[in-house]
Formats: sequence, structure tokens, C-alpha cells
Amino acid sequence: MAVRFPYRGWLVDLDGTVYLGEQLVDGAAEAIASLRAEKRRVAFLSNKPLQTREEYAAKLTRLGIPASADDVINSSLVLARHLRALDPGAPVFVIGEPPMQAEMRAHGFEVREDAGVRWVVIAFDRTFTYAKLNTALQAVRGGARLIATNPDRTCPVEGGEIPDCAGMIAAVEAVTDQTVEIVVGKPSPIILEVALAALGCAPAESVIVGDRLETDMLMGRRLGLATILVLSGVTRPGDPRIAATAPDHVLRSIRELAE
Ligand SMILES: [Mg+2]
Repeated sequence: MAVRFPYRGWLVDLDGTVYLGEQLVDGAAEAIASLRAEKRRVAFLSNKPLQTREEYAAKLTRLGIPASADDVINSSLVLARHLRALDPGAPVFVIGEPPMQAEMRAHGFEVREDAGVRWVVIAFDRTFTYAKLNTALQAVRGGARLIATNPDRTCPVEGGEIPDCAGMIAAVEAVTDQTVEIVVGKPSPIILEVALAALGCAPAESVIVGDRLETDMLMGRRLGLATILVLSGVTRPGDPRIAATAPDHVLRSIRELAE
């Protein structure tokens, strides 16, 4: 099948674009295979910090899209790299799941369970508790700063959506009266810089394919990439915000990339 679009660099969102939960979007494997057959550069770009890049690559491979960890850029990796440049080895408290904590340790941070830290790292955390919120509050009272992985309100899964990192961010901001200083995930230029470096492509020759207007499409529009909205995830056909955001192309799903 031939790819219908001319772009050299392809940044492809995962949840809602390539798969929903454990279900591959129909035609996604063939679309990615077509891009690769034409020697386009492809990287998978996810705001989700729940698993490591190796685990996302293994999931893609299992679902029929062969991938290695280097093909995947997610918000936990980008946060760890960004904070390592700002404050290497700092003591941190992580509101997040074990793979997020492991990524911080792998980048040389001292991950602590108490409030004696310089940073509170806020991620999508399905084990978020009052105790974690309290530790974050005490850490901020002691001078800690706030950094987060991603601004998504919800994460699409099979049959619906579940609360995402915006819920953890809002809770911490509400009780501390501090605003999160840095959110590295889409639509931040921080994750895009890492992704384009991985592709070896400039913004003007690249495109982002995604299902979410306020992250995928907004980042592309702001930073000079072409944008392809797919309607297989959280954005419904007829949503008035589609016209307001004005992606370059709107497809029913990633399957329509190639014909
Ligand atoms: Mg998505």
C-alpha cells in the first residue's frame, strides 16, 4: 500500500491512535508497515508514564508492529532526562507507579518515600492516595518544586476512559497552592525536541498523528509540524473543537494513511 502523505518524519501517538487498551486499531499494523516500507522515519510518542519504553515496545511487537525501546518516546523518559539536566541526582518524591520510579532511579535520582526532597514528580498514578498527597504537601512546604509528566485529563481504554495525570496535578496544586512548573509531555516542546532528535528530522518535514486535539494537534500546530487527527480515540466526529484547532488532515483512523 502507498502512503498518501509526503512527510519524511512521523510521530505517531499510541493510545487511541495505534491501539485502545489491548486492541490494535484496525489497519494500524499495515499503515506502519507501509511507512517503513517507504523508508519514512517513524517514532511512537506517548504521554503515558505507566510502563517503560521496553514494555511499550514489547506491547507493539505483540500486537503486530515490531518495535524496539528506541522507537518509543514516553513522558517518563523525557521527564527523567529533562530533570537530570536541571538538577542531576536530586532527591525526589514520585507520585507514580513503579516503572516511573524505576526510570527516575535509572537516571540517577534518589527516589524517596518522605518529604525531604527537592522535587515532587507527578505522573499518571492509578495507586494515588491521600498519603501521597500529604507527602507532596509537606515536601512543597519544605521548599520542593513541582514537575509533571503529562497534562491529559483522561486516558482512552477499551470501552471508555480512565482518569489521567491531570487529576493528580489538580489535587497537588489545590492543596499546595503551587502551580506545576514544568509538564514535559505533549503539547510541551520538551517531548517534541527529544522525539525529533530521535527521528533525525526537522519540524517542517515531519507530521504528528494523534487522537487528542489539546495535546497531539496543539503541539504540532504550535511547533511547525503537520498534523493528522484520527477519530479512533477520544475525539468524536463533529466535535466543534476540530474546526477551531484545524489539523491539516482528519482521518477516521490510522488505516487511512495508506491506500
Ligand atoms: Mg492518544
